[in-house]
Amino acid sequence: MPNFECHVAVASVISAVGVAAGAIMFDWDPTASSLAFVAGLSGGMVPDLDCDTAKPRRLAGVFVGLGCAAMVVGYVSGQGQFLRRPWPAEHVVLAALGSFFLFNSVFLEILKNRTKHRGLFHSLATPFLYGGLWACLAAGQGGRAIMAVWFLAVIGVFSHLILDAAKGFTFNPLKIASADLAASTRLWILTALVNFLAFIRLFAF
Ligand SMILES: [Zn+2]
Repeated sequence: MPNFECHVAVASVISAVGVAAGAIMFDWDPTASSLAFVAGLSGGMVPDLDCDTAKPRRLAGVFVGLGCAAMVVGYVSGQGQFLRRPWPAEHVVLAALGSFFLFNSVFLEILKNRTKHRGLFHSLATPFLYGGLWACLAAGQGGRAIMAVWFLAVIGVFSHLILDAAKGFTFNPLKIASADLAASTRLWILTALVNFLAFIRLFAF
């Protein structure tokens, strides 16, 4: 099976080409282009979040922990009645460390207990779910950025699934569902909802 480095290399080449093409053909600005590149590159790692030993999960855990810690820091260092904010600097540091370890371990625990390697994370829903999530995240950046991140995120995840399929000579990573039909249905409904949300936002601009 292709390893982490292989997926990262292929995803970054495809993302770079995709972003260059988008900038030429659709006039993507630097913000849209850089967000789209990150979406594509990270998309190449997303399916292996279901693998207990793979690097993508540890990396994603660090990002989730950092993201949550940043939000907590932003909140407790701002003015406000609730929780008697702003907090003194040493409490902010403790809150940041605490929330990093809390959210990092909760995230890793959920993935560990709820996923199976080459399960639903390696299915045709994943590219569109990931694309839809990126499109929602980029909502404030305008229609072009939404399309750019959606497109690159979808392509990035597909690059992973296709590489896995090609190296293993099997269509398994490109499956529509798994034997667990209830979980598959939930995943597709979630994918449809997230994309609907992103799509609605696109038309609001
Ligand atoms: Zn994989």
